[in-house]
Amino acid sequence: MTDTIIHAHIPGHDVRLLAGVTTGLVDEACRRHRTAPTASAALGRTLTGALLLGLMQKDLERVTVQFSCDGPIGGIVAQSDAGGNVRGYVQNPEADLPERADGKLDVAGVVGKGTLHVRREAGFEIGLMKEPYSGIVEITSGEVAQDLAYYLTVSEQIPSAVSLGTFVNMTSRGVLAAGGYIVQAMPGTSEDVVEALMTRIGAAPMPTEMILRGLAPIDMLRTALGDFPVDVLESRDARFRCTCSHERVLAMLGSLEPAELERMIADDRGEHVVCHVCNTGYDVTVDELRALREVRS
Ligand code: ZN
Repeated sequence: MTDTIIHAHIPGHDVRLLAGVTTGLVDEACRRHRTAPTASAALGRTLTGALLLGLMQKDLERVTVQFSCDGPIGGIVAQSDAGGNVRGYVQNPEADLPERADGKLDVAGVVGKGTLHVRREAGFEIGLMKEPYSGIVEITSGEVAQDLAYYLTVSEQIPSAVSLGTFVNMTSRGVLAAGGYIVQAMPGTSEDVVEALMTRIGAAPMPTEMILRGLAPIDMLRTALGDFPVDVLESRDARFRCTCSHERVLAMLGSLEPAELERMIADDRGEHVVCHVCNTGYDVTVDELRALREVRS
């Protein structure tokens, strides 16, 4: 099944709803980085959160969600754009802890304390860089969803509820379900509606539970919000996609110090460069390195 993210609303109320089923792309990310189960859960939640935040961006804009933390995972980065593309990685893919007493993965345990930094940038690819919007909050929970909710409420000043999940098969390490939703009370939403929404969300099943049952993003919202009517405004396919390429690797090598490039050519073995964001390896031949030197001289 294709991964999908949607932007929806409750007719007659200023409530923004974002939801997504991201099982395929989270599974791909975890396979690429060979993450242990707890690291998979942390990465999966962060990728889904970044995707949902990216849904409100315009073309050529991007969102970066970055946890800088002192837990065994060391750090998590996810970057998305308005087109449903997301990429990301964790500092230590092997970060893992025993399951908690309630059977859940101990994401807060591998994240620990630190800061959550969210950056919204525009025009980066065409050189029309606008001032990025950037906010930093302390990590208050480490469970990712709660931290994003705290960031949205405190830094972007939009009271938000965030629910994100990743369900991992502990034996195969495959991701069986991933996704979640964000509910935002935009200015003008009445206190009564906010309270009613919070009560329903508090009693809603976990996103992974709904996704395992086969629910699409819209059904997940309808289940979570009970008798509130929900309409879809926009729906997009989502995927794991990095911006690296052989050309970009060559450009990066071409910008190295001349002595460094000379050393690589003298080495006569070519270079193997790995993109740390998606773990793709690129082989650069000695002839290509020589061509880079020619271009420069
Ligand atoms: Zn890459």
